[in-house]
Amino acid sequence: MADFACVTGAFAPAKKVAKSELNKTISYTDGMRDPTSHMPYKARAVPVAIYLHLPFCRRLCPYCDFFKKVPRRGDLARICELILSELSATLARESSWADSLITSIYFGGGTPSLHSAEQLASLLSAITQNGEHGKYEVTLEANPGTLTLEGLKQLRDVGVNRLSLGAQSFSERKLHLLYRDHTADETLTTVKNARAAGFTNLSMDLIFGLPGETKDEWLADIEQLLACEPEHVSLYNLEYHEQTPFGRWHAQGVLEPLSQDFEAELYLLTHEKLEQAGYEHYEVSNFAKPGFRSVHNQVYWEGKPYLGFGPSAHSFDGVTRRFANVADLHEYERRVIANESCVDREWQNSEREQWEEWISVRLRRKEGILWDDCHLAWGGKHARALWAAATLLPEHLREIDAANFRLTTEGWFVENEILLKLYEAV
Ligand code: SF4
Repeated sequence: MADFACVTGAFAPAKKVAKSELNKTISYTDGMRDPTSHMPYKARAVPVAIYLHLPFCRRLCPYCDFFKKVPRRGDLARICELILSELSATLARESSWADSLITSIYFGGGTPSLHSAEQLASLLSAITQNGEHGKYEVTLEANPGTLTLEGLKQLRDVGVNRLSLGAQSFSERKLHLLYRDHTADETLTTVKNARAAGFTNLSMDLIFGLPGETKDEWLADIEQLLACEPEHVSLYNLEYHEQTPFGRWHAQGVLEPLSQDFEAELYLLTHEKLEQAGYEHYEVSNFAKPGFRSVHNQVYWEGKPYLGFGPSAHSFDGVTRRFANVADLHEYERRVIANESCVDREWQNSEREQWEEWISVRLRRKEGILWDDCHLAWGGKHARALWAAATLLPEHLREIDAANFRLTTEGWFVENEILLKLYEAV
């Protein structure tokens, strides 16, 4: 892994950066519980996953609740310049982050594949020394139809080694309903070109649970997906977020969701088909061929530190401190230019919240909770309470043995309900 400290060398020192409130809480305090490791903090460097939010999309999908905008002329180049400045200023301000190792880099959005390879390369080289990013996972979210074969080759050349393709569906009906800006044929072409360009780590997203979806339509989606042979698959159950057009159409009765039972049937079917095809269902919504679990996303699921840049990006110190950048493009730009912190909200989880989160992120994973980890991180009293609560869950939803507590696939589908029951009891 590369040393994150090299970032500071990639920039001229930031001018007169005021010591912000952020500096006060970044160091791990002696005696503070470390929910991610049993090593004392001072005995190890803290690896950090880096997230870069590139918020522009050619068209806004009505179900999406991410922070995104349609770009105007010059916006794509401008946001990269702003993120470069934010990187420089933040690392000058947050000296303890600057000493961290990197686990992975993730370009999310938005549609980061709208950016040129040169723009992405400038961000990568600001984070790492030249060529160093080849040592770890560098993911780019991409939409079908936004990349040519030549563009894909350039991405490989600048260090992107994992492509996460927002296919969503191969059904033209579903793509139309989702207001996607690509066809199924464009997805197939992008997959073919990605392979030709040398990408050997390809992830594809699919959405299920759309109004009117039938079992046959979903099975056809899975069949097409398997024909593409991606190394990794992320599966999304359509949600109707309140602030989105889909949320409003749902509230008005224009869109009628599938029944929960039918959605559960589709979820279990997906598990069966993908496992039969050699994928490991390693997290509630994610499947991987052996050796291709997402390094970056596992950081989130294991409660490890990550640092986000760009408008709306979130960060976490791996213990209690969380902060989020302002989700407003003009305000983000103003703060970067004024050399002010882009952090809009910062909060600390209480010990109770840490405990609940520790349980929830681990139960998302195939391995579930290791009792030894629970004892070491939280002590015998918490572990015994969790064991007692877990044994009260219906047997088809959980598996408990001397080493682990994990949810079954059926349990994963109703994970939120299970968590509420556990929280009441522990
Ligand atoms: S392309 Fe992705 S980020 Fe952009 S609006 Fe659609 S779902 Fe959201």
